[in-house]
Amino acid sequence: MTAQTREERLAALREARVVLVSACLLGEACRYDGKSKGSSRVMQALEGKEVVPVCPETGAGLGIPRPAVELRGGTGEAVLAGRAQAVVVSTGEDRTAAFRYGAELALTAAQRFGATVAVLKERSPSCGTQGTQVDGVVVPGRGITAALLHSAGITVLSDEEL
Ligand code: SF4
Repeated sequence: MTAQTREERLAALREARVVLVSACLLGEACRYDGKSKGSSRVMQALEGKEVVPVCPETGAGLGIPRPAVELRGGTGEAVLAGRAQAVVVSTGEDRTAAFRYGAELALTAAQRFGATVAVLKERSPSCGTQGTQVDGVVVPGRGITAALLHSAGITVLSDEEL
């Protein structure tokens, strides 16, 4: 798959009728710390579109609040390939299965509602599109949900790119 430029991804968003969106960007208090990340920039970009809100982590049954998780050993693509894990930062507990399940739920929602573009929260281990936390530092690359959506041909954009 050829990498799209930011301009191409923004053009895809402008043309999209249905958009998958990280629920925390819409004001849902579903983050690990029990807060939201409501964004007026995101709301403006979604004007006139059908919106499919998803939170892969709460969808997978992880509670609110929940312990912070980071990827260990690689970005979302490596997790999907079985070469990296999602673990609780404080304890090292493995959350990979739940994170993968949440990613699959998001992809199912995108396909069911015909979303061709996803606007996702940057730097999350699930939703990060340009950067995600791996082994204690933010590295370029996607989180698990963003990686799965991208591999299915959905254009993924970060809230920070709008
Ligand atoms: S970044 Fe993604 S997984 Fe995290 S709270 Fe927002 S929607 Fe849920």
